[in-house]
Amino acid sequence: MSPLRTRLSQVLAAGLMGLATTPARAEPAPACSRAGFHIVLDIGHTTDDTGAMSSHGVSEFAYNQVLALEIDQRLVEMGFPAPLLLLEAGPGKRSLYHRMAQANARPANLFLSIHHDAVPDNFVETWDDDGTTRPFSDRFKGHSIFVSFGNRLRQRSLDFAKRLGRAMQAHGLAHTPHYAERFMGRYRREPLDAATGVYRYDRLHVLRTARMPAVLLEAGSILNRAEALDLQTPERRAAIVAAVTEAIDGYCGEIKRPVAVAKAHRKHRLARRAAAQPRETAPADRNSDY
Ligand SMILES: [Zn+2]
Repeated sequence: MSPLRTRLSQVLAAGLMGLATTPARAEPAPACSRAGFHIVLDIGHTTDDTGAMSSHGVSEFAYNQVLALEIDQRLVEMGFPAPLLLLEAGPGKRSLYHRMAQANARPANLFLSIHHDAVPDNFVETWDDDGTTRPFSDRFKGHSIFVSFGNRLRQRSLDFAKRLGRAMQAHGLAHTPHYAERFMGRYRREPLDAATGVYRYDRLHVLRTARMPAVLLEAGSILNRAEALDLQTPERRAAIVAAVTEAIDGYCGEIKRPVAVAKAHRKHRLARRAAAQPRETAPADRNSDY
């Protein structure tokens, strides 16, 4: 061996020894058994009841649908079973019962509802968008994440919500802190993790009635004129999709029993068909918000 190669070997050996004496790092999270982890993706609002209109005239439902479909596609690429996509028509309030009947008929490990945020009416201003008067509020921007303590698996819901919040941060996305402010009045929410924008919202029907850990993501404000445009860019959506899917992957690795849910899937195949019928006679639920 030439002197140079000998020297290289010594340097490499020293480096390896150095690595060996470095304090052990934290155990990596266990790998996710993706094929056995079932997800329900809820597209907020309906094709007929489209939620808020953006400061540029695009419906919230349109934003929700595009983002949810991209999350769905990425999850399938990663090896997860195709999520149950809840895409509803008709009046928004009535769709809640139908969508949750579908969700709860198929046991799953996680329920994620995709929304985009507006603002309380008293913050809405108007502007002239090239000849059309449109609503806007540039006061708030950023995402927020909600958990209902009415959910039977609130701790797991909260675990995923915090994980999602950290993943959003890691992808350079900032949450909005304004839900914790007194001026929000009846829209004020208790922060559960102020650092990552996770709030408690018990009355949210889909979170409260889901029989699985459930979280609602308001991906950003479509009333904010700059953010409404940014949320339509592939780059912004890619960051959100990456954060959501990484959070799901991490959460999946953390929980212990995805196989039990896979078995329950087979057992509930018939029940699913019956329960998926619309419940036209469902009583009005005055204790729920969307
Ligand atoms: Zn919404």
